[in-house]
Amino acid sequence: MKAFDLIGNTPLVLLEQFSTEAMKIYAKLEMYNLGGSIKDRLGKHLIEHAMSQGELSTGDTIVEATAGNTGIGLAIVANHYHINCVIYAPEHFSEEKMSIMRALGADVRRTPRSEGMIGAQQQAKAYAEKHQAYYVNQFNNDENPRAYVHTLAQEILDQCPDINYFVAGAGSGGTFSGTASVMHQHNVKNIIVEPEGSILAGGEAHAHDTEGIGVEKWPSFLDRSLIDDIKVISDQDAFHNVSQLALKEGLLAGSSSGAALQAAMDIAEDIDEGHIVVVFPDSSDRYMSKNILNYGGNNNE
Ligand code: PMP
Repeated sequence: MKAFDLIGNTPLVLLEQFSTEAMKIYAKLEMYNLGGSIKDRLGKHLIEHAMSQGELSTGDTIVEATAGNTGIGLAIVANHYHINCVIYAPEHFSEEKMSIMRALGADVRRTPRSEGMIGAQQQAKAYAEKHQAYYVNQFNNDENPRAYVHTLAQEILDQCPDINYFVAGAGSGGTFSGTASVMHQHNVKNIIVEPEGSILAGGEAHAHDTEGIGVEKWPSFLDRSLIDDIKVISDQDAFHNVSQLALKEGLLAGSSSGAALQAAMDIAEDIDEGHIVVVFPDSSDRYMSKNILNYGGNNNE
């Protein structure tokens, strides 16, 4: 086996302390990917697809706006194919992710927090135009959801054939869209998760501490008909669950995992029996500088 083969085929575990005999919550542990997050799958798919279309070749440069995990996935895969990688990341996202991207050879540029992810996207696009680089554009790239159709969705169905509910947070919305499109055909209910401050359920956009999820505008490829419910989770609940997962399961998960777990627990309260699969996109260790395991609130103030 090669290191590069460690993208995908992640474990699915029963969250024993959060389940009962009839009501089981399973977590798909995406921190077990090579770069430590679900976004390795996206980096691999987007780069390999662009190469297969003749849009990208060895020696070229890719550029992208990202909160960090997509940048890590892209940097790993870009290196593998001898492609250069430039990343624009808003300045409030964790330093650890920036250090990891730099260690993987990416040219990382911070953008002002006040301009949000949209500001980072504008700068990435401008760089691509100026330097003839390939703009990955995960937020509007129809290949984003397709990264999960034959990988994550299929793995979950193989690992938990009697799944009733699929739960995932939305950052770009790609994980949810791609996986839910498959789950829908198997009569699985699809629940999308966002933090307070995200707009999917109709709320106002504002800053939040849960990192990696939350959208400022409706993602182009997010099909409303695939959404059975939208759960809006507070930063407090998300971070509380991060601590609970560490204490009760020995699982060191990121705050978007904590938010997704809260949504799964809310569903579990409403039904007597069933199998819920929830995606845990990354781990706590890349948020230590933000006190993820000792959350006091308002990291973003
Ligand atoms: N959680 C974390 C930690 C992430 O980095 C991301 C991607 N930004 C997500 C969840 C959401 O994934 P997606 O972009 O596929 O909606």
